[in-house]
Parts: sequence; structure tokens; C-alpha cells
Amino acid sequence: MTLQVERVDEVVTALRTVLADDQILTSRADRLNRSRVPAPFPVHRWAERMPDLAVLPTSTEQVAGVVRIANELRVPVVPRDGGTGLTDGAVPLRGGIVVDVKRMNQVKEIDLENRTATVGAGTSMLKLNEQLAVHGLIYPDDPASYPCSLVGGRIGTSGWSLIGSRYGHTRDLVLSFDHVLPTGEVLHVGDGVGQKISKSSSGYQLKHLFMGHQGTLGIATEATLKLYPKPEAELSPFWAFDDYDAAYRCVGALARAGVATFAGAVLFDEWKVAYLRRDDEAYIPQPRDVRALVCAVLYGYEDEVRVGGKRLFRIAREHGARYLGDEISEGDWAARHDRYATPLHGRTKDGQVIPMSWHCEDAAVSYTRVPAVSRAWHAIVADLRRQSDVFDDWGMFAYTSADTGVDYLTEIDVGIWEQQLDDRAWELWVRAKRDIAAAALAHDGSISACHGSCREGEVDLVPYELGRGFDVMLDVKRAVDPNNIMNPGKYLLDRAYRTEEAP
Ligand SMILES: Cc1cc2nc3c(=O)[nH]c(=O)nc-3n(C[C@H](O)[C@H](O)[C@H](O)COP(=O)(O)OP(=O)(O)OC[C@H]3O[C@@H](n4cnc5c(N)ncnc54)[C@H](O)[C@@H]3O)c2cc1C
Repeated sequence: MTLQVERVDEVVTALRTVLADDQILTSRADRLNRSRVPAPFPVHRWAERMPDLAVLPTSTEQVAGVVRIANELRVPVVPRDGGTGLTDGAVPLRGGIVVDVKRMNQVKEIDLENRTATVGAGTSMLKLNEQLAVHGLIYPDDPASYPCSLVGGRIGTSGWSLIGSRYGHTRDLVLSFDHVLPTGEVLHVGDGVGQKISKSSSGYQLKHLFMGHQGTLGIATEATLKLYPKPEAELSPFWAFDDYDAAYRCVGALARAGVATFAGAVLFDEWKVAYLRRDDEAYIPQPRDVRALVCAVLYGYEDEVRVGGKRLFRIAREHGARYLGDEISEGDWAARHDRYATPLHGRTKDGQVIPMSWHCEDAAVSYTRVPAVSRAWHAIVADLRRQSDVFDDWGMFAYTSADTGVDYLTEIDVGIWEQQLDDRAWELWVRAKRDIAAAALAHDGSISACHGSCREGEVDLVPYELGRGFDVMLDVKRAVDPNNIMNPGKYLLDRAYRTEEAP
């Protein structure tokens, strides 16, 4: 605990004015369950990130009441939803109150005429889509964490979607939301005075500001989302290549083709294919000469997907692709939500199998820079591996972010033997993370396309990425959260509260 026991008692007493007893959790197990996210962290230090208590509000009014009390008592508040974030956003660095919004999971309205759904921040996209399917509709925010990340966390991270090249990403799909400011006031964020406007030119565009802030500017409680017709057809051809360069040229050509049903393309590099062949029991075996893979995905009506698919097949053939058949094409794409963490093991340099957790470092990189960033990242992980058996290179994916193929979510997957992550190994990892971020920036990219960039190592370079914009970020933080209660310690935002420069 970071608060004295008496202070915790004082906070609990105050919270009882807005919450019932069963909405206030103080047991060690309840707190420990909310001290972690999947990103590996040294086991001997897990207790450092425990909140003092957690609360389970069920309405915007309750969230506002909790935050108002926390602001008055100057107690840190950390929003938490699915807890799947990979940049430690939902992990409390200063104790305080975790506001777990999972019980705010009601679908409040499905508006068939305006094609919107209004839902609580704790709503799962998977569960929402079960209800929408009855109406032939879909909410197409489709991260690899689709079964376990929730709408509020998607807003808190400004998430990236696997089919975003067709439907857009979280920032495009969330029309508006109710948001509790760090003072406990409630703000409606979005265009227009209602909930269902997708484009306005009136005033500052606050929607982007209040998304992707990792809980440092408040808590989203209820959101209105954009809906689409549920696609009649899905086509996800997988093609094999003898080398990475051919696969890279092909993915670029597919993404640039301008096919309207194109929802995304994925490039698997040689390390990724070798790793899957070596250690992923779920992977359908490939001929030995397959060195790199490309998958393209099309969504839409049967007839338009058929025509678009023909065009992409022709482009792939012109680039020397070999079609891998329907079984791997349909099976692998269908498994996109559960294949990430499944292997649960990696190898030491000598080939010994060891238990490992998955970690993914991501960046946004423009197409022409992807090969150079890939080479730099593999060299960083190879160096890490030379120094310690705690790390394994599980290869890279590059996914299109946009329908024109301009930029890619570029990710390197690193196996980490979390139980052996001692202080030295952690230091090596933090340094490697910083180098990985620096390589993305050296190639005019962004530290993250997907997860955010407030974890140790990468966060040091955020002021460099944003330049003068980082000072504006500090000014905004100070103005919106005068007492630094929202998720303190994240994104170097404590600098907003320095009264004088350190000597
Ligand atoms: C296997 C796996 C695959 C993944 N694949 C993807 C992917 O394809 N695309 C992608 O974008 N991400 C992916 N991620 C990362 C993660 O799922 C996303 O960042 C997701 O958006 C986090 O949602 P969550 O509900 O789990 O949020 P949490 O982890 O609970 O929170 C994330 C951040 O948002 C803040 N937050 C939570 N709730 C709120 C709220 N109501 N209001 C304001 N802030 C809030 C938290 O404080 C934290 O900073 C993956 C993670 C895993 C484990």
C-alpha cells in the first residue's frame, strides 16, 4: 500500500457516500488482480504496482463521485477496463484507487436508423457483436485482443484494428462519449451537442485529445459507436514467398491497389515463419522453402469481394506468390484473436525449450521504411539474446494501417522468460525497448501505432517524438488535472507540475 492504513479508511468512508460496500474492494487478492497487465514485468517487483483499493462503479454518476472524492483527498486514480494494455497504462505506479469499469457493460441503445450503438465503457466488442448480428450489423473494431479488451480501454489507448484499412480504427469508430474529468465534472466529447454526428468543424476537435491518453485525462464511461452492415463474405488468402523482399514488394502492391473491400494485409517475415514452424503447435505446417508470408483480407458483399479478390490474386501472382490453399487461409485468419499468447514457450540459444510470455513491441512506420526498421529491430533483439537467455526472437509482422498502404503497424514479438526476469535482465530489456523506439523514430515513424508509449524505456523518447507538442501536452495535463490525480507517473507528465527546474 502506498497510502497509510488510516488514509485508506478515510477514502473508503468517503467512497461509501457514492458506492455500495460490494463495489469497494480492499482485499489483497482483489488489489493484486489489478496490479498487472500482460506485458512481462519482474515477478519480484509485482507488489510495487498494487493499488490501495479498487472500485466497481456502474454509472457515470458513480465514476464522477469517485473521481471527485479522489481529487478532494488528492488520491491517485487509475482507470482499468480489460487490463490487456501492453504499455502498463492500467498499472498503478503510485497506489491509490483503481476504477475498474467492467460492470459498466450495458448495451443501452441500438439505433438501426442512424446505425449506432450506445454502450457502457466496460462493453466487450465480442458480446456487442453477438447482439448486433441479429440485426445484420457489426461494430468492426477488431484488435487481436478482441475477446478481452473493452470499449473504454480502446478509447484510453486509441486502439488499432486488424481490419482498420477498411473500417478505420477506434478513433474513427467511436462517434462520441461521456467522459469524467479529473475534477469529477462530466464532459460530453464528440461532434455536435448530441451523440450521433460523425463530422463537425465547430471548435477544437476534442475527441482526439480525450482518446489515447492512457487514463491520464479522465475516464470514458459511455460511448456511441458507428455500425456497419455485417459483411456477407470474408476472403483471407495466404500466399508464400521464397524470400522477404518478394513478400514485401507484394504486400505494398496489394495495399496500393485501391480495392474497396480491402480490409488489411499482413506481412510475416522470415523470423516469424521460422518461429511458427519451430514452436507453434497450432500452426499448419508449410513447405521448407517458404520463407515469408503475406495475407490479405477483404470484407463486403459476395459479389464485390469476388471481384476484388480476383484482382488481388492477380497482383500476388505477378509478384511470385504461391497460394497456400483455403485451409490455411481461412483457418489462420479465423485464429487471429487467439494465436498470440498460445505457444507459451520459447528457446534458449542452445535450443532448450523454456516457459515464456509473449511481448510485442510496436511502431508506426511508413511503407518504404519497414525493411530498415525490421533489420534494426532484429539486430537489437539478437544483441539482447547474446547477453541473456531470458529473451527469444519470435519474429515480426507488418500490418497495413490505412487503405492506401501508406503506413504499417510494425511489430516484433519477443518471448520473455518472466520468472527469470531479474534486475539485470530487466535493465537490458528497458535499454532494448528504448533502442527499438529510437529505431522507429530514426526512420520517421512513431513509437507506437497501437499500444501507446508510456512504458519504461520507450517513454524517454516521447518528448523527442512530439517535440514542442510535448510542452503542449504538459500544459493540457496541468489545465485539465490541476492536482495530478489521474494515473500519475505516466508519460513523464509529472513534469507538468514542477515548480522550478532541478539544479
Ligand atoms: C493478445 C493481445 C493482443 C493485442 N492486440 C492488439 C491489437 O491488435 N490492437 C490494439 O490496439 N491493441 C492490442 N493489444 C493491446 C490492448 O488489447 C489494447 O491496448 C486495448 O485497447 C486495451 O483495452 P483494455 O480494455 O484491456 O484496456 P486496459 O488495459 O484496461 O487499459 C488501457 C489503458 O486505457 C486506460 N483506460 C481504461 N479504461 C478507460 C476508460 N474507461 N477511460 C479512459 N481510459 C481508460 C487505462 O488506464 C490504460 O492506460 C493486444 C493485447 C493483447 C494482450
